[in-house]
Amino acid sequence: MTKFKKIIYILTVILMTQMFISKIHAKSTKDASFNVLVLNSYHQGHYWESNIAMGLKNYISNNNEPNINFKVEYLDFRVNHDKEYIKSLKDMLSKKYPKGSIDLIYAVNDESYEVFKKEVKNINSNFYKLPLLFSGVDNNLEETNKEKENMTGVYHRDDTLDLMILMQDLTPKVRYINIITEESGYGYSIYKEVTRIVDRYLKDQVKIRHIKSNYLEDITKELSEIKNSESTINIIGGEFQCKNLGKYKTPIEVINTIKNYSSAPIYSNDQTYMNAGILGGSIDIGQEQGSIIGEMIIKLKNGEKIENIKSVPEPKVKSYVDYNSIYEYNINPFSVIKDVVVLNKDPFELLIPTWMKGVLIFLQIISIIIIIGIIIIFIRFRNDKLKRIEIQKRAKEREKLKSDFIVNLSHELRTPINIILGTTKVLEKSLEKGNLDKDYILSKLENVDKNAYRLLKISNNIIDMTKAESGMLKLNLENCNIVCVVEDIFESSIDFARRKNIDMVFDTECEEVKVAIDIFQIQRVILNLLSNAIKFTPENGVISVYIYKEKENVVIEVKDNGVGISKEKVDYIFHRFYQVDNLYTRHNEGSGIGLCIVKEIIDIHDGKIQIESEINKGSTFKICLPRHLKVNEMQNEGSSIKDINKIVDLEMSDVY
Ligand code: ADP
Repeated sequence: MTKFKKIIYILTVILMTQMFISKIHAKSTKDASFNVLVLNSYHQGHYWESNIAMGLKNYISNNNEPNINFKVEYLDFRVNHDKEYIKSLKDMLSKKYPKGSIDLIYAVNDESYEVFKKEVKNINSNFYKLPLLFSGVDNNLEETNKEKENMTGVYHRDDTLDLMILMQDLTPKVRYINIITEESGYGYSIYKEVTRIVDRYLKDQVKIRHIKSNYLEDITKELSEIKNSESTINIIGGEFQCKNLGKYKTPIEVINTIKNYSSAPIYSNDQTYMNAGILGGSIDIGQEQGSIIGEMIIKLKNGEKIENIKSVPEPKVKSYVDYNSIYEYNINPFSVIKDVVVLNKDPFELLIPTWMKGVLIFLQIISIIIIIGIIIIFIRFRNDKLKRIEIQKRAKEREKLKSDFIVNLSHELRTPINIILGTTKVLEKSLEKGNLDKDYILSKLENVDKNAYRLLKISNNIIDMTKAESGMLKLNLENCNIVCVVEDIFESSIDFARRKNIDMVFDTECEEVKVAIDIFQIQRVILNLLSNAIKFTPENGVISVYIYKEKENVVIEVKDNGVGISKEKVDYIFHRFYQVDNLYTRHNEGSGIGLCIVKEIIDIHDGKIQIESEINKGSTFKICLPRHLKVNEMQNEGSSIKDINKIVDLEMSDVY
């Protein structure tokens, strides 16, 4: 082979390979997309056609078919349906979709089917021999197989009979039927079908009137001329425009307007009106038909022959009623048979007559009242029980406190009595032995004296407590300088504190605060607090007394850094007989009634006593006394030291 021939050979091979590749490419591009021309008979937004489109779109996307292209056209046959319009449409579509650009035609509804079933048979048409799918088309049994060649789809089932059965169930007394439709093939078919059924089953019983127009104004005008009767019903189908605006009214607007002119129940087999406030109907669901068409399109795209895909009737219609309309039109709810779907009914609502609903509501109210009554009785019973338990608990506590008190008291009484008896015995023995040492005898007598005071303190406390309980504790009020009263008592207690090596500090904000008090009782109060502080503060502790004025009160604080009292026990500290430690665990003497009397005395002075305490840190008792003065009263500077010593000896008699 010459060099030139070789080059020619290589070029030819490259050229052929190129052509082969582009052929495959061209084929695959064509294979990849499948163009479906969707011919809607009516306008964009037509309810039933939109529902079909929705079902179709969902089916295609659920089946993952991205390469199917839908070229959607709205032929608007409702506006115009004459020969000239149809011809211009055909011309326009031929120009828009040249031969080979479309793989399949889908005619939605009769009108577009009627036109394009001729086109696919027309040898001069761009759409010649294209497979044709249809839906919503009446099954014309007269069409020959030849005529039906290359076509398949979903036939419209005659759902008028179902509608008439529903109508007979719900409104059996019907004598007049107003058929309200748009002026179109669809509207006429509704009229035709209803008339056929009436002629067949209800001849001479029911009269039909066809009210047809594309404009709502015409419909209402005609309706207003008809006398409303109880035995009338309306059947509606199609869509209606407003004459002035030329705009389609929404289904709800249409129904509401009709209701203004006719009180008769409205039925419809048109899915458009399903939730627009009509009584009910028997409908085929557009979405279901869309799915069937979708399945057929995919089969055709995948190479299946159209003659192998059989035409099917549309899925069985479903009868439905609107729950609210049943009551609006006074329909007997029991006339709704089992298979009928009830729309707009909440799950807890019952399909029963209104009077029955009233009885049910009444029964519900009664049962709610009974339940509330039972709950109230139960709560009362429970509260009473809790109260009884609380009272019993308190009574038990009181009993326990009382018996503890008696045990303490007998211990308290026995100790000084034993000491007194013991000491007198010792003195007797000493005298028998002739031991007449004066200091020795005096110290023994002092011991007898102290314990006799202790007995006196106990008996005084018991008497005062009983007096306080019966409201007999009376005050002998005198105007005096309370700072002096407190300071005197404080100084007399220092000796007792010193025995335990406890530091005593006195401080006051002002030297003189005049108030009307029962000096003796206030002395007892301060002494009681100080004796407790000394008793419950360990060696080397500090006890301080601080006096200051508030707007209306004088405040006396007695503070120690002793054992303190736990939070739970602080609340009981002023109760009668209460002692934080019981007889067997306590380290100090006492009957447990001191603070109770302190509180009673402060209360009858119209004052307040509070305590702040923390375990192992100490306690602070705060007394607030109102700065009242007794009128026409000479000022008293406080009791004499002699008096005080007696009281101090008495109150401190249990401090060791
Ligand atoms: P008692 O005569 O037994 O002291 P009180 O009524 O005066 O009775 O006191 C009741 C109890 O309160 C005491 O037994 C003690 O447990 C507790 N208490 C009172 N004052 C103090 C204090 N300053 N520090 C710790 N505990 C105290």
